Formats: sequence, C-alpha cells, structure tokens
Amino acid sequence: MNNGFASLQIEDSYVRRLQEMEIVTPSPIQTEAIPVILEGKDVVAQSQTGSGKTLAYTLPLLHKIDKNSKEVQAVVLVPTRELGVQIVQTLEQLTEGSSIRVQSLIGGAAISRQIDRLKLRPQVVVGTPGRVLELLKLRKLSMHYVRYMVVDEVDQVFELGSMHEVEAIFKGMQRERQALFFSATLPEPVQAVIDRWMNEPVFVQVNPEQRTSQTLEHLFFVSEERDKIDTLRRIIRLYNPTAAIVFINETDDVAEVISKLQFAGLSIEALYGDAGKQDRAKVMQSFRSGKFQLLLATDIAARGLDIPHVTHVINLDPPIDADHYVHRVGRTGRMGKKGTAISIITPKERFIINKFSKSLGIIIEEKEMEFGKVINPGERRGGGPRAANRTRVEPVRSVNGEAGGEAPAGSLRENNARTEAPKARTSSLAPKLKAKAAAAKPATIADKRKAERERLKDRKNKGAPRWLKEKQNKPKL
Ligand code: AMP
Repeated sequence: MNNGFASLQIEDSYVRRLQEMEIVTPSPIQTEAIPVILEGKDVVAQSQTGSGKTLAYTLPLLHKIDKNSKEVQAVVLVPTRELGVQIVQTLEQLTEGSSIRVQSLIGGAAISRQIDRLKLRPQVVVGTPGRVLELLKLRKLSMHYVRYMVVDEVDQVFELGSMHEVEAIFKGMQRERQALFFSATLPEPVQAVIDRWMNEPVFVQVNPEQRTSQTLEHLFFVSEERDKIDTLRRIIRLYNPTAAIVFINETDDVAEVISKLQFAGLSIEALYGDAGKQDRAKVMQSFRSGKFQLLLATDIAARGLDIPHVTHVINLDPPIDADHYVHRVGRTGRMGKKGTAISIITPKERFIINKFSKSLGIIIEEKEMEFGKVINPGERRGGGPRAANRTRVEPVRSVNGEAGGEAPAGSLRENNARTEAPKARTSSLAPKLKAKAAAAKPATIADKRKAERERLKDRKNKGAPRWLKEKQNKPKL
C-alpha cells in the first residue's frame, strides 16, 4: 500500500526529491488539492498557514510544465519579496538537475538583470504583481504561453492594492488557463475576483473552522503600553525562544521600536519595508541561519514566511483582526511542530483577546511573571494588586542597561521587589537605583518633561542601528 506522494500521481523523481527533504506523507491540503489541480480545475484553496500549501501547488504545477518548451508557462504571484524567495527556493530544490528553469521577478530588484535573465527562457516565474505587469508592458515577458497562474497569499496581494495589477495580468492571458488561489483567509474582495476570473472553481478547504494549528499554545500578558518593551524583554528572558518573530502594527514605528529593543539588550533585527533589498535579504538570511534570536516585523513583511526554527510569535501590538492573528501565529507551530503565540496587551485591549478567542474558537490563556517565573493569575506569591495596575513611578535605568539589571520602578520587577521578602529588597541594586532616582529627580514639571525628552532622545540615538542613524540624519524631502 502506498499512501505517500506516489499515490497522488506525483512522478518518482519528485517523490525521491521530497524524500531527500524528509517529506514523505502528504499533508491534508496536499492530499486534497493536488488531484484537483492535476485534473486541470481552477482551485481556491484555504487552509491554515504552515500546512504545506506551497508544495500543494508547486508539485502539480511542475507536472504540467512542458520541459521541452522554452516559453514561460506558469506564473506565481506573491505579495512580498521574502515569500517569493522562499517559493523560488522550493521550486529550485524540486527541479534541480532538470531542464525546468525558474526565475524570480520581484519588485525592488534591478529590472535590467531580470530582463537579461529572462533571455535564459524560464518556464516558471515567481513575482510580485507590479513587477510582472511592468515587464509585460515592456514586452519583456509574454503571457502568450502561460497556462497556469497561481496567486499565493491572495488576500494579502489584494490588501496591498495589487488587485488591479492581478486583473491586468489575467487580461493578458489565454482563455484556456488554470487559476489557483491560495490563502489561509479569504475575505470579501477576493470573492469578487474569483467570480470574475475563475471558471467553476473547486473550493478546497481543510478544517476551515480550525484556523490555527492545534500544536499552538496561545498566551497573553497584560502590561501598560509604556512597559511593553520591558515586558517583552522579560518574556524573552523567561522563555528564551530559539527564534521568535515580534510583530508590531505600523511600518513607521519599526525604526523606533527596533532601536529601543536593541537598547534593551535583545538580539533583534527588523524586517524593514523601507530598507534596501539587500539589507532585507541579509536580515532574512541571518535570521534563518540563527545569527540573531528575534525578528521584528509587520504583518506585511512577515506574511507567509516559513522559518522552521521559529518557536514563538510575540504580538507587541495586537493584530488588527482575527485574520491577522491567524497569519501571525502561523509563523510557528508549523507542520505539527509545537509553537507558542504570546500577545502583550494593555488592560484596555483585553476585549481584543476575548474577540479572537471567540471567533477562532481557541483558548488564549492569561499569564503573569513573578520571581523569574511564569505564573497563572492568582498564583502571585507576593500578594497585593497586579503589577500592571499599580501606579507608575518614573523609570530608572541601570547603569549599563544590561537586561538583568534593568528595573524600572512600577514595572513587574520593581513591584515584585517591593512585595517580595526583605532580603531581596536590600539587594545591592536597590540603593544604587534609589540614589540614581533621587539624583535624577527633576525640579519642575517643565524640567521633568525636558529631562524625559532628552533621556528618550539619548536612549534612542545610542541604541539605534547604523542604518537608522543614517536615516535620521538624512534631510526629509
Ligand atoms: P508551507 O505551508 O508551504 O509554507 O510549508 C510549511 C513547511 O512544511 C515547509 O517547511 C515545508 O517544507 C514543510 N512541508 C510541506 N509539506 C510537508 C509534508 N507533507 N510533510 C512534512 N513537511 C512538509
């Protein structure tokens, strides 16, 4: 009996290649989608992220390519360069040694090089909609022989405003073509495009009601907004993830947050939308090879990323809706591996967690930290009100800013110090902090504000990575 890829009519050469990649048993989305795609049907596939969607379309697609023809026959559209790179890598792994050529046509890279490489006659191209359309308009790419069009992470492609570009690309295609849409979520606008461009599509849904992987643990910590960075730092110290992705909502905030996090002593780099293509590629490569522990990203930058050693996803800002929660947490707990999703929320944001929990049918457990341990609410040994609800005193930084030494007054750590045994309170750090606090005490409110501004500026500048300093020094156009 064979219930592996061979039973799905996948050619032996690919089955062997998959075995080398330690991929033997098809995942549910692969079992469902591969036969329908091989049959030639238009397909809209929805399954949780990290469930093996890339192979679900790349494998049947490769079977359909005429290896003897030197025309572009398949186009895969992706929302981001990182996802594009990932898909090209998968395709190259599968086709290594064969006559199938794959080329990336991703925006941001030099178009002249892409034009040159198109002369090598790839049969499959993977690109962002804008760049693919640009090349079509320049007549450097022809859709004449394209029979297969995949849109991966279709909801994000549309969210990024590329719906018109996708439709313009559809217009340039032959009528006899197969269209495949893949995503973990399928919001309304996608449905309209499905109606316009697909021919009696088959909807493949694997466990649509189970939107996040069952191997994920969902947790949240409550923290005041101003203490979030410190809370994150302590979470990292306690969980010590192999690798984690930290999400924030606004691209504009990346520069500021990354400098704060680096200053807090975290091993973190940002996947920064405005950074050059080479910088982004370098960050991704270093993160993949474990050179740093945390990747700061926005929803857009991290969509679809498959980095197997990511053990934790941390929401420093809560995602804007349940769909975004699904995509974010899907960066871990992939293909049956364990993963932890942690949201750091303010007391006012509790309702958001309740909403996600209800709409996704998952339990998001509240946790707290005390004495260097993660505890459940109510297990606090020190007694007293929750740290997060306490009145905050001006923060005081330790001299070297080293992770363990930082103890902002009013933070969990400081509150613990106040509630724990007297021995802890007389630690050598306490008098130093008190003295520093006294010395730093500003005379008037205006002085105090000024001092705080100076302190933040100084802190930001000291901790800022080189590219950020350069960016800050550049005159604004
Ligand atoms: P994807 O959802 O396509 O991003 O895939 C998630 C991860 O699962 C990738 O690292 C794939 O190499 C891996 N993968 C895909 N299909 C299988 C499978 N059938 N068995 C084991 N791992 C797989």
